[in-house]
Amino acid sequence: MVTIETTQNFIQLKSDKELNTQPKELVGMDLAAMRQFFKEIGEQPFRATQLYRAIYKHRQTSFEEITEFSKDLRTKLSSLSVVMQQQIDRKFNSQDGTRRYLFKLFDGREIESVWIPETERATICISSQVGCPLACEFCLTAQLKLKRNLSVGEIVGQVITVLSDVYGIKQPPDRQINIVMMGMGEPLLNYDNVTATIRLMSDMEGIAISTRHITLSTAGVVPRIYDLGKEEIRPKLAISLTGATDELRDRLMPINRRYPLKELLKACQEFPLKPREKITFEYVMLKGVTDSDVDARRLVKLLSGLQAKVNLIPHNPAEELPFESSSHERVLAFQQILVDSGLPAFIRRPRGQDIFAACGQLAAKSSTGM
Ligand code: SAH
Repeated sequence: MVTIETTQNFIQLKSDKELNTQPKELVGMDLAAMRQFFKEIGEQPFRATQLYRAIYKHRQTSFEEITEFSKDLRTKLSSLSVVMQQQIDRKFNSQDGTRRYLFKLFDGREIESVWIPETERATICISSQVGCPLACEFCLTAQLKLKRNLSVGEIVGQVITVLSDVYGIKQPPDRQINIVMMGMGEPLLNYDNVTATIRLMSDMEGIAISTRHITLSTAGVVPRIYDLGKEEIRPKLAISLTGATDELRDRLMPINRRYPLKELLKACQEFPLKPREKITFEYVMLKGVTDSDVDARRLVKLLSGLQAKVNLIPHNPAEELPFESSSHERVLAFQQILVDSGLPAFIRRPRGQDIFAACGQLAAKSSTGM
């Protein structure tokens, strides 16, 4: 049996060897890694299964909450590790029910997640990087530039924390939860951590969100789209297109200079889809830039032959961004051209605009808080 005394001896031994090491963070580990950890600290492997369920299924994110463990074990674990280091720093509530969460990470960096409730489901929009390296001209996150990649624990921790803020611990969600990797960052530039996160989130013993309900959005990192297509456990794919010619896209989204439309669409063509599954193309409506009838017809032509649907995103303006939003009538007329040509097209209703939670607005603004 572990006593506090032996725990202290253990810490003594450990700290002689490993001075100044960070405590081990448990969130983000898969079951195999947890087993290994428990083995290293001289505990039974079945404890790993308990811990895994506690963190991922029941959202118990502090050792005090994990009452399945004895007090001694909790004391021992907390002397060697932490469940999760990130904290909700601020929370912003929109009139429409959307919530924006600002997280403070262990190193003081900030990221954001958004909770978007709808009638029968809810979507959590999560970040994959601190900032973003891609420099899309219409996106505020781009202005932060890339600070660093997020760890698996930092990505999956957003989902657990948001769900526990909404539902508390142990309580299963009352509706279908969707995950969209459309927050800060380019998920395919943090490939290993993002795919590991998807495996964790979709594990039915844990968070249990099926890959049918997880969407990864990319600005078009072509080689990684091929890699993703080869993954056994893969999410649904969304492509941020916003521009139907190389000329326009080169300007708006500089990644297009590296991976032009022809290559991007070839990767989409070859992406394995389930029956009836479609690739979503996100298209930001920028007044006088991307929203003409000619643009709409080009888009139809570009996507012909693909299992595609289009989400038209009204541009969310900001002082720092050199664009205006298209009028609602223009967006409707644009949509009509797509639909009349047999291309399914939907208009995304902006959510949480009043709290800077809408697409392209995630720039860790804490000054707008309520
Ligand atoms: N880097 C990935 C994940 C971010 S998704 C990607 O680009 O797909 C963020 C989405 O918000 C993208 O589809 C982008 O086109 C959209 N977006 C960016 N800035 C926007 C703005 N100002 N208004 C509306 N949508 C915007």
